[in-house]
Amino acid sequence: MPLLTVQHLKKYYPVSRGLFARPAQVRAVDDVSFSLNSGETLGLVGESGCGKSTLSRLLLRLEDPTSGSIQMEDLELTGIKGEALRRMRGSFQMIFQDPYGSLNPRMSIFSVLEEALKLHTSLDAAGRDARIRELLKMVGLNPDYARRHPHQFSGGQRQRIGIARALAVNPKFIIADEPVSALDVSVQAQIVNLLQDIQRETGIAFLFIAHDLAVVEHICHRIMVMYLGRLMESAPADALCSDPLHPYTKALLSGVPQIDPSKRRRRIILKGDVPSPLNPPSGCRFHTRCPFAVPRCAEEIPEFREVRPGRFCACHLVEKI
Ligand code: ADP
Ligand code: MG
Repeated sequence: MPLLTVQHLKKYYPVSRGLFARPAQVRAVDDVSFSLNSGETLGLVGESGCGKSTLSRLLLRLEDPTSGSIQMEDLELTGIKGEALRRMRGSFQMIFQDPYGSLNPRMSIFSVLEEALKLHTSLDAAGRDARIRELLKMVGLNPDYARRHPHQFSGGQRQRIGIARALAVNPKFIIADEPVSALDVSVQAQIVNLLQDIQRETGIAFLFIAHDLAVVEHICHRIMVMYLGRLMESAPADALCSDPLHPYTKALLSGVPQIDPSKRRRRIILKGDVPSPLNPPSGCRFHTRCPFAVPRCAEEIPEFREVRPGRFCACHLVEKI
């Protein structure tokens, strides 16, 4: 049984466009289905604004979905409240893009980690102390720095603290929402390697969110590609990167620099900007920018279906291009 099963998940935000305008909705996440196995690292990529963070807030139950279902093993999460929700929060954790914004500047690193341990474990003071030292070592920080405050650390070190906080409660599942996007390129690789090591050692499942395929290509087992609130393609990482099926995946990949000349791809430049999720295109959401689009693509929504074993794609032309 998968650790997490998501079915037909939707999140529509009502927005007002003035007193006399018809009420409108931002379709931030629109009919997303997938599953995640324990021990798996699943990548989620797509341009800014396509609904990645909304999806992660739904999974953590920080927001309620408009419709659809989220199951952890056999527990339905969409309806749970109170104590059950608090317990569930102990098994799901999140790492944010901007660790500074999520760390209280007045609390020492020790207090930040201790707070998480007090909330979700029954460790006594000595146990918490030992666990905090162990966590700091695990993320490559000197345990003697525990009494320092967030501003005394660099961006990369602060992200390590964010990771330690997520690990503190032994979660089954961590969502990392663009964990390296705000960091210098030289630091990005260190953090990605750290997450990869932790995943190997602990077997925690990860949902790794990025706007760039280059970041997730080497760390993920499977990758999902999202566009305007919908999944376009999902596949094992190797297959997706060496033989993309969806035109949008092809375009994203063509922008990833390749050192090996045999792997260089023809650059596909997408026309125009991402359309508004307030008024998404009819039929296939990608048809307005797709270099291969035919009239059918504007009329009929392509089903997200298994086109080859383990490979899902939402494109009418998948066998033809
Ligand atoms: P991503 O993380 O992929 O950049 P988001 O999930 O943040 O995308 O946003 C998806 C879409 O939903 C965007 O168009 C964004 O403006 C919109 N959105 C997100 N949160 C809200 C909200 N609370 N109210 C209205 N629209 C929202
Ligand atoms: Mg985001």
